[in-house]
Amino acid sequence: MLSKTLAGLALGAATAEAFAPTPMGMFGSRAGIEKRAGIAAQPLVAAPVASRRATVSAVQGLKAAETKTGLPASVKPGVVTGQALVDLLQYAKDKKFAMPGVNIVGTNSINACMEAAAKYGGPIMVTFSKGGGQFIAGKTLANDKDQASIAGTIAGARHVREVAKLYGVPVVLHTDHCQKAWLPWIDGLMTANEEHFKQHGEPLFSSHMLDLSEEPDEENIEICAKYFKRMMPMKIILEMEIGITGGVEDGVDNSGVSKEKLYSTPEDVFNVHRGLAPIGEMFTIAAAFGNVHGVYKPGNVKLQPDLLDSFQKHLEKKVGYGKPFFFVFHGGSGSEKEDIDKAVSYGVVK
Ligand SMILES: [Zn+2]
Repeated sequence: MLSKTLAGLALGAATAEAFAPTPMGMFGSRAGIEKRAGIAAQPLVAAPVASRRATVSAVQGLKAAETKTGLPASVKPGVVTGQALVDLLQYAKDKKFAMPGVNIVGTNSINACMEAAAKYGGPIMVTFSKGGGQFIAGKTLANDKDQASIAGTIAGARHVREVAKLYGVPVVLHTDHCQKAWLPWIDGLMTANEEHFKQHGEPLFSSHMLDLSEEPDEENIEICAKYFKRMMPMKIILEMEIGITGGVEDGVDNSGVSKEKLYSTPEDVFNVHRGLAPIGEMFTIAAAFGNVHGVYKPGNVKLQPDLLDSFQKHLEKKVGYGKPFFFVFHGGSGSEKEDIDKAVSYGVVK
């Protein structure tokens, strides 16, 4: 079944965009990325969505995908971190495909992700929510300091690390929305990352999302920058959210949020670049373009993927190279295929 490639998720021409070298040297040059990306190591294939909440609905891509492609040589079976993950995300943007980020709640759903990735090819993002981590530890445990969420998320990550290689697929270990009140959860995971890094030269997790989108933008970016600085020595990728994803997820109800928060502006997104790019090159942005969590179709909210294009073009003018942002698409489930195609073509990689 290896003919169904994730590149099909690009659902359009897979021509690489013209890129200039990125301004930050943290993760190596563009030429280096292309060199590494040049070898067709494993087939790159979309995994079916193993949970009700995939970040990007990959199902249409599975049907449409027919061509074979390779992954960067640095991307190997097992957990992908640091430079290899940067290579993978750059490759995804160049080839115009996005990886499904699947929220899991236990070892069985983790295994389902990896089994699907093994069956249809990889890579896959295994994503832990704070609630999912707590569920893994056991719901009867006290969690007043997020101790159960921390322990369960770490336990899940260790499970992935033990078995991912056996499944023979590259896996990105990621955590999902973390709002301000939940930062102790991320603090605990960061300590685990630092311990793991000391022992093994790489962090336990590949990437973390911070979602301070409910706070004023300035504070949002400030807190992200603080954590990004701590992540940088380990080359952990930061995902942040600007504007708000509507709907309900992980017990957070954004269904009543004001409509303008559901659409970011080019200036909002540029401010993220301004705050984070001096720290490091590799961060991803969940910019709001009318996306809503949940599988239902939002009645009065219209998805506007063209906004992502306008954000890219706004920054292009300032930095002088094409498609500088890495975007992620929350609430992809239930979206129209055409809208997903467009979003991916504008730099959505997850
Ligand atoms: Zn989300």
